[in-house]
Amino acid sequence: MPATRAYAAATAKSPLAPFTIERREPRAQEVLIDILYCGVCHTDIHLSRDEWGFSKFPMVPGHEIVGRVAQVGGGVNRFKVGDAVGVGCFVDSCRECGQCKAQQEQFCDQRPTMTYNGVERDGSAVTQGGYSTRITVHEDYVLRVPEAIPLDRAAPLLCAGITTYSPLRHFGVKAGDRVVVVGLGGLGHMAVKIATAMGAKVTVLSTSPNKRDDAMALGAVDFAATADGKVFGERAGQFDFIIDTVSAPHDYNAYLNLLKVDGTMILLGVPDQPAALAAASLIMRRRKLSGSFIGGIAETQEMLDFCAAHGVASDIELIAIDRINTAYERMLKGDVRYRFVIDIASLGTD
Ligand code: NAP
Ligand code: ZN
Ligand code: ZN
Repeated sequence: MPATRAYAAATAKSPLAPFTIERREPRAQEVLIDILYCGVCHTDIHLSRDEWGFSKFPMVPGHEIVGRVAQVGGGVNRFKVGDAVGVGCFVDSCRECGQCKAQQEQFCDQRPTMTYNGVERDGSAVTQGGYSTRITVHEDYVLRVPEAIPLDRAAPLLCAGITTYSPLRHFGVKAGDRVVVVGLGGLGHMAVKIATAMGAKVTVLSTSPNKRDDAMALGAVDFAATADGKVFGERAGQFDFIIDTVSAPHDYNAYLNLLKVDGTMILLGVPDQPAALAAASLIMRRRKLSGSFIGGIAETQEMLDFCAAHGVASDIELIAIDRINTAYERMLKGDVRYRFVIDIASLGTD
C-alpha cells in the first residue's frame, strides 16, 4: 500500500506538520477507509502537547473520522466499497472481558486500543489517527453513518456526540428534566442539541457572554455567563443534572451547589490538574458526582441513528489541514463555533 499522507506532532512542543505513515492492507475482517473529514477534539490538544503525561511521538491525532469504504477484506460482511462510515475513539478491544461482552468496550478490562496514541493489540505498532487520508479498521469497530447526516457535520458525532449522548442516556435524562451544560465548545454544543432532542430544558453556563444567542439557537432555554459569579447564587438548587465539558481547571463545588436534592453532576472535561472537592458540596442535598467516558460501539450506532432521526448534527467550521495549529490556539481561547472539522482533501492525494 502506498505511503499515507498525514499531519503529526513530532514532540510535545512542536506544531503539527506534514508526515507520512503506513496503513496496512485490510486483513480478512478489516476495511480500508478513505477519510473525508476528521473533527478536532480538545483531547487532540491535550495529547499532542502531552498534558496528561502518556503521549507517544510522533503522533497523528484525530478520532472523529468519517469517510467511505475503499476496500474490504475477504471476510467482511457488514460493509461494502462506497459505504459512508465512521471511526471514533477506539479501534479494538479484548472482546472477552465482561465490559466488552456488555457492549461497553470503552471500559474494556484490558483497555481498548485507542484510535491514536494507543498500541495495536499484538504490540506491533503505535496507532495513528484521522489527520490522515486513510485508515484500516476491523469491521466490528466501524460505524455506519446515516445518509441523512451531511458527512462533514457527522464527524464530530464520533466523539463529541457519543460522549454527551452516553451519560444523558445512562443517567436517564428525560423530558422536562432541567440540565446545565457547562462550557459551550465541541462537547457542550452537542450536549445542548442532544439533551434538547430528549426533551430536557437546558441551561448553558459559559465563560463567553457572546455565546448567548448561539446557545439559545442550539435549543437552550436559559444562558448565564459565569464570570461575575452571580449565577451560582441566583440558580442554586434548581437542576437535576450538570454536564461539565470544561477542559481547564475550575471550581466543581460552585457548580455542584446548583443541583437539587439527589441531582447528579457528570464530568466529561479532563483538566490537567486535580480539583479540590468540599464534602459539603455533596452532603448537603445528597448530590452525586460522576464521570463518563465516550460510549460503546452499539451505543455509538444508536446515537448516530438518534441524531439522524432528530435532525441533529454538529455545527462546524471546515478547515484545511494547514490551519490546524491556528485552530488549536482558537480552541484554547474558547473561540470555536462549535467544532473545527478538517477537510481531508486538503492533505492532497498520493
Ligand atoms: P472545546 O471545544 O475546546 O470546549 C471547551 C469549552 O470549555 C470552551 O469552549 C469553553 O466554553 C470552556 N472553557 C474553556 N476554558 C475554560 C475555563 N478556564 N473555565 C471555564 N470554562 C472554560 O473542547 P471539547 O472538545 O468540547 O472537549 C472538552 C473536554 O472534554 C476536554 O478536556 C476533552 O479532553 C474532554 N473530552 C472528554 C471525553 C470523555 O470521554 N469524557 C471525550 C472527549 C473530550 P465557554 O466559552 O462556553 O466557557
Ligand atoms: Zn474526542
Ligand atoms: Zn475487554
